[in-house]
Amino acid sequence: MIDQAQQFASDNYAGICPEAWNAMAEANSGSATAYGDDDWTQRASDAFRTLFGTECEVFFAFNGTAANSLALASLGQSYHSVICSSSAHVETDECGAPEFFSNGSKLLVAQTAGGKLTPEAVRGLATSRSDIHFPKPRVVTITQPTETGQVYSVAEVRALSATCRELGLRLHMDGARFAHACATLGCSPAEITWQAGVDVLCFGGTKNGMAVGEAVLFFEPTLAEDFDYRCKQAGQLASKMRFLSAPWVGLLESGAWLRNAEHGNDCAQRVAAAVAGLPGIELMFPVEANAVFLRAPEPVLEALRARGWRFYTFIGGGARFMFAWDADVARVDALARDVREAALAALVEA
Ligand SMILES: *Cc1c(COP(=O)(O)O)cnc(C)c1O
Repeated sequence: MIDQAQQFASDNYAGICPEAWNAMAEANSGSATAYGDDDWTQRASDAFRTLFGTECEVFFAFNGTAANSLALASLGQSYHSVICSSSAHVETDECGAPEFFSNGSKLLVAQTAGGKLTPEAVRGLATSRSDIHFPKPRVVTITQPTETGQVYSVAEVRALSATCRELGLRLHMDGARFAHACATLGCSPAEITWQAGVDVLCFGGTKNGMAVGEAVLFFEPTLAEDFDYRCKQAGQLASKMRFLSAPWVGLLESGAWLRNAEHGNDCAQRVAAAVAGLPGIELMFPVEANAVFLRAPEPVLEALRARGWRFYTFIGGGARFMFAWDADVARVDALARDVREAALAALVEA
């Protein structure tokens, strides 16, 4: 399956970017202390502190489900609840892991337009009940950018965190594509996280060009107490940690983390612009990161499949395309051209 033409069904189809790969190769000389007590892990943690301009506590997990679940579990007790959007990855795509790792913390789901939480939605859920029979709200989690590619502005995050502070809630950010949000906003990572009131960030490495790995950043060090034990118990403490941390050194110190995301975002904009105004084709969501969701008549989707394109339609019945660091622009243009031809052909047949 190696020589297959590139597909955009998922940004996880991409390989490892050169900066991450080279750092891993460099880390692969000689031996190093195990379980994170090594120079690469120190250097990666320091690179995060430099990038965010603060003395945050940094941990490395193998994937996003674990990072989110353990971070959320660390912010409350089992009888607490976590407020999220109905389309949040923690609700729809983590197989109950947040509840499992927190020993039963319930997710309280808000139905919001476009998958973004609002202060009103948070307040509504957080104040709906205050009796002993209801799981006590303690955490709010937002996805930046959302699962459908919308980006919270700094003002929106600030408004949410203000509501959280008022109601005694912690604010967690699922940043599986955090770099893409930074690229869109053009702001510093600090501005959209701790300076805007985010307590904990899960920063995705996998969708940013690494083989595996997510970083969990605690901006308030006391919240990180015993988090290392939590990771170990959950099977998330890498013994050869340097291979999980070195690629971060490669991404962060070179600036590839941002360049990779910018490229994905640019490709999404390219497709969005090329299909705008085509008959029967509609962008289901504003394109603000590296995702394009197309609503199209079934014959058009069929024609795209017949031309060999792969995509998922599990959200809203549309076709999802995701662009990673390695998206080949010629292939991106080929997709846009095929959408155009399929749309026009369907028009002739109709
Ligand atoms: C990909 C993704 C994750 C992490 O998923 P894993 O497969 O567990 O690494 C988390 N949140 C969002 C929004 C994602 O898109």
